[in-house]
Amino acid sequence: MKINISDLIFKKCDKISIETKVDIENIRRGCELIQLMKPVSVNGNLYRVEESILFSGTLDVAIQTECCRCLDEVITNKSISFDEIIKAENEEETQDIIVDVENECFSLEDFVERLLILKLPMRFLCDHDCKGLCAQCGTNLNNSECSCDKGNIDIRLVKLKELLKQD
Ligand SMILES: [Zn+2]
Ligand SMILES: [Zn+2]
Repeated sequence: MKINISDLIFKKCDKISIETKVDIENIRRGCELIQLMKPVSVNGNLYRVEESILFSGTLDVAIQTECCRCLDEVITNKSISFDEIIKAENEEETQDIIVDVENECFSLEDFVERLLILKLPMRFLCDHDCKGLCAQCGTNLNNSECSCDKGNIDIRLVKLKELLKQD
């Protein structure tokens, strides 16, 4: 979906309201794939602020991804507020602008995708108390116990402790 901001740029209006949904299937962040379970709701306003265009509003997303500790499925809803500069009148490249504007239009899909990559939490957990996987046998410790000896620390750490003791 292209958003035309020429009326703002050429001062024919002071505000453009956006209330829509964009269909994005997933977001790739490094090797992590975050599925979006329904279209992303975008509600906001575009304003002219001095020589720039400000896009201010909220995104509502339903996410499906993995718990970073136990790799179980995590399904969660997030509401993300944003205030982003869309375009500076002087065509200088700045870090603040997260989408390209061409012929006074920008792609709402690109905007939403880049914003989600920037603003979604870096890690998702199935639960604050997720016990994760056993480092030795891979058992999901939320579901069952395993018989691995948890006191069995890494041999390199034992060596380090010995070295520290010598001081
Ligand atoms: Zn977990
Ligand atoms: Zn184990």
